[in-house]
Amino acid sequence: MSVEAEYTNSCVCEDYNEDTDTWSVSETCYGDCYDCQVEDFTNITEHLFAMSSNWKLTGFPVWNGTVDGIFTAETPKQLLDAMTPDRADWTMKVTVSDDGIVAILYHHDAPMGGKMTVTPIMEEA
Ligand SMILES: [Zn+2]
Repeated sequence: MSVEAEYTNSCVCEDYNEDTDTWSVSETCYGDCYDCQVEDFTNITEHLFAMSSNWKLTGFPVWNGTVDGIFTAETPKQLLDAMTPDRADWTMKVTVSDDGIVAILYHHDAPMGGKMTVTPIMEEA
């Protein structure tokens, strides 16, 4: 079983128009749009945090290729931070399965998107 979702650090706030009964992209950010996405990411990755807080990432897209790494993330927000660039706008499509995450990350250095995988590292018994 897997769950798909899409996240971005750009504002996704919407305004409700009572006259037309529609939602449209807001001109102002209410400041909680990223928190909502983190909450959603938390819900779909809970089972992975039950396995480990150490993670292996392969294929993070950078300007001249990809990088791999191992890192610690205690919370879904830390994991999201580790999977995305620090000072750039990004959009990421994730597919969360029973044993890991496959993500397509779009950012300045990867406008076409780069595919990476993130899996929890099982503790040695
Ligand atoms: Zn916003």
